[in-house]
Parts: sequence; structure tokens; C-alpha cells
Amino acid sequence: MKTKVLSLLDYKFYVNGEWKESQTGQTIEIKSPYLYEVIGKVQAISKNEVDEAITFAHEAQKEWANISLQQRADYLYKWADQLIDKQDEIAEIIMKEVGKSFKDAKNEVLRTADFIRFTVEEALHMHGESMRGDSFPGGSKSKIAIIERVPLGVILAIPPFNYPVNLAASKLAPALISGNAVIFKPATQGAISGIKMIEALHAAGFPKGLVNIVTGRGSVIGDYLVEHEGINMISFTGGTNTGIHLAKKAGMIPLVLELGGKDPGIVCEDADLHETAKHIISGAFSYSGQRCTAIKRVLVHESVADELVEILNEEIQKLPVGSPEDDNTIVPLIDDESADFVQSLIDDALKKGAKLVTGNKRQHNLIYPTLLDHVTGVMKVAWEEPFGPVLPVIRVCSDEEAIKLANESNFGLQASVFTKNINKAFLIANKIEAGSVQINGRTERGPDHFPFIGVKGSGMGTQGIRMSIESMTREKITVVNLAE
Ligand code: NAP
Repeated sequence: MKTKVLSLLDYKFYVNGEWKESQTGQTIEIKSPYLYEVIGKVQAISKNEVDEAITFAHEAQKEWANISLQQRADYLYKWADQLIDKQDEIAEIIMKEVGKSFKDAKNEVLRTADFIRFTVEEALHMHGESMRGDSFPGGSKSKIAIIERVPLGVILAIPPFNYPVNLAASKLAPALISGNAVIFKPATQGAISGIKMIEALHAAGFPKGLVNIVTGRGSVIGDYLVEHEGINMISFTGGTNTGIHLAKKAGMIPLVLELGGKDPGIVCEDADLHETAKHIISGAFSYSGQRCTAIKRVLVHESVADELVEILNEEIQKLPVGSPEDDNTIVPLIDDESADFVQSLIDDALKKGAKLVTGNKRQHNLIYPTLLDHVTGVMKVAWEEPFGPVLPVIRVCSDEEAIKLANESNFGLQASVFTKNINKAFLIANKIEAGSVQINGRTERGPDHFPFIGVKGSGMGTQGIRMSIESMTREKITVVNLAE
């Protein structure tokens, strides 16, 4: 067979410990969202190659589950060390591929190394339990149940584009430490960053076949992977529509889904408005709002709304806009389609009577930070997730109205409540239907060992280091029947 010469920009996929070119001969061009040029190509692999990767993963998993926890820990520690060694190289790819500032990209790599180490330490301190039968009425003392956690087998890890290294490793590390193998399907825009992370894993000397990276468009190989009988559990992070589609396809295997959000920032009459505005601005606009836990609507009490809007506007004027190479906060969105969607939400709101405070300026896929006041429930931006730098302000007459609007959303990821009255904060937090409520702080994921949960359209299952390990293992009970 004639071998094609790969250019420096061609990235191979990774199967059974080897970097390979796909037999399809097809590649996908990855264009930088701000350089507007192709920065590399990834392999568009075939279904047969998916099958091979899953077969290798099953073979490797048996041996991996058998070795000691300390041995598995050693490999993961080496992987974390490799990520630290390669931090600049990986951060540069993240920056170029998903348009995140170099500083944030580097933080993502460092946070990932910390995540892996913490995962190891958590696993080293997790242990099973035992039970005697006589604690149940009529049960016998001679029956002893030994309860341990065992791996599920082969985990399919599918992250989104926005944290292509951290949200991938937060699936791989708990899977691996607990004795599973992994099929890693990166977001296509984010695949090169994922490949770089796997290069670090390869350098750490993991057994071949244990982790395989399968590249290709979700729309082409996604369903095939999700429905594959060789997959024993799926850990997915991405949009709600994709998550719902995937859940319908997956059938009877365990799923953890972390999906979209429409996190409200609820501002009470007695809030410290300057502090609140700082949290809201950083929550809403970091990385141009391309975060699942960005603050995506402000529900503010009418009596303080004018003042809050004025302060928010002042703060927005300070946000640096431009290339991620200059560490700007507002950067071009991931692609033109995303920018078109954000623009359509702004246009719809303005047509229906929202007041433009600032923004609504666009250069290609760079959308300037946009603040919309007097947003009402008839406007799409009140309910839909923009994943871009637009912040709607909805004025309310009472805390009850804020709670009602917060809960009317199809999403339920996080919410923030800003008030100086801690009792009121708890009363509101208790009534909010969301995975987490932040009191006097911006909505955000982490620290990574905190449980992270989405309810309603925001997901299913719990992440967070211990919870992720638990979701990728199951209880196994061995019962000893002593002679009486
Ligand atoms: P997306 O379009 O839903 O894609 C997510 C992943 O799913 C990508 O790897 C994608 O691959 C893959 N995929 C697409 N179709 C598939 C299919 N039929 N079967 C299996 N996989 C498939 O989301 P995104 O645009 O990358 O990310 C933005 C979304 O993620 C936002 O809604 C955001 O809120 C959410 N998010 C949630 C969290 C959280 O923890 N709750 C964190 C970050 C982001 P391709 O790239 O090849 O299409």
C-alpha cells in the first residue's frame, strides 16, 4: 500500500499505543477561531477503526484492573508530570485551537495536573465496607457481605470544545485510576489539544490499548460509538440537545451528562452592588461567556436595577477585547455559526423592546460584550443559552418573582444569589432548582473536588472527583457464609 506523506500539520489518531493515519484517507481541517487559518488536520476515522480501538481497550482493561492501585497511581502521577513538562506547548495549542487566552490555557493544563493528582489521592483513600446479616430482622450473624467497587470496563469519554484538556482529563483520570480503559472522542474543534494531552499520557508509558483517541465528527461517528455494545459507560459534557440525543441512543448503560445552563445571578435589594457587579462581569464574560457556568441572565430587584446596570456598564467598558494571544477576556467565538446565533438573540431582544446598554458590535466572529436591559420573557435571550458575551438584565419586583423566573428555565446548572442577608440567601438558595447555588459569588465549576451537578436540561449524574470515580465503578458484593 502506498503510504501518504503526512505534513507536519497532520495529527494521527491513537490506538493500541500507536499513532496512526486512518485508512479512510480522510482528514478534518481544524481552523483557528482567531487566526482564521488551518492549524492542523485530524483523522476522520472509520467505524472499523472504532471497533478495533474498542477491542484493544477491552483487552488492555483486564490486565489494568488486575494490577495494584499503587501501580496505577504511579502511571497517573507520571502523566501529571508530563503535562507540567509540556504545559507551554499544550497551552499554545489550546489557545490556537479554541481561542482561549494563553494565561487561561496554561491554567487549564496546570489545573488538569492537579486534578489527576487529587484523583489518585482520593482513590487511594477510598475503601469498601462490610456488613453482617443480623442487622436485618431475622438475618444471620454468620452472613458477612464484603462490598467493594469494581470498574465498569470501557468508558466512552466525550468532552466539549471549551475545556478540551481539563474536561477530557476529568473523565480519563477517574476512569483509569479505578481500573477502566477509555475510548476518548474529543470535540473536533479541540481534538488537537486532546491529542497533545494524550501525547503526555503516551510519554508516561501507560499500557498500550488502555486509552485510545478516536477522532472524527460527532455527527459521523458519535451515534456509532454511543450505541456500540463494547462501551460500558458514557461520560459526556456538551450541549443539551446533543446530550438528549445521546441519552436516547445509549440504551441501558450508565450515563453521566453535564449539559448546558442558563445560570441566573439573582440580585436582591440589599446586595453590595459593586461587589456583585464584579462577580457578574467575571461570571458572564470570561472567555467571552463560553463557559457552561457563565452567568447567563441577571434577575435584579427593580429598586436597585438602574444603579446595578450603570455599574455593570462601567465594568464592561474595562473588559479587554481582541486576540487571545494578548490575554484578552473578550475573544472571537469558536466559529461564525456561534457568533450568528448570539447575534440572532441580540437582534430578537432589540426587536422586542429590550434596551441596548452597550455592545451589539461585531467583527466576524468577535462579538463585543453586550448588555441588554429591560429584557422580558417574550425574548429568546431570556431563556436560551447564548454561549457568548451577551448578558440580559431582567427586572423583578420581589425575591419570589426572581425565584419563579429562575425556576421557569429548562436548565438547572447553577445560580448565584447576591445579598448581605445570609438568612435570605439560604431561603432563596433552598428554593432554586439547580445543581449548585453560589451565595455572593459567581457561578463556576470547582474547586474540582466539589460535586458538580446539572438538573433538568443541565444534566444527569454527578461529577466531582470522588463522585466521578463512583460513577465509573459499581458495587460488587461477596457474601461469606460462615459455618454456624
Ligand atoms: P456539543 O456540540 O454538544 O459537542 C459536545 C461533544 O459531543 C463534542 O465532542 C461533539 O463532537 C460530540 N458529539 C456531537 N454529536 C454527537 C453524537 N451524535 N454522539 C456523540 N457525540 C457527539 O457542545 P460544544 O459546542 O462542544 O460545547 C458547548 C456546550 O457544552 C454548551 O451547551 C455548554 O453549556 C456545554 N458545557 C457543559 C458543561 C458542564 O459541565 N455542564 C461544561 C462545558 C460545556 P464534535 O465536536 O465532533 O461534533
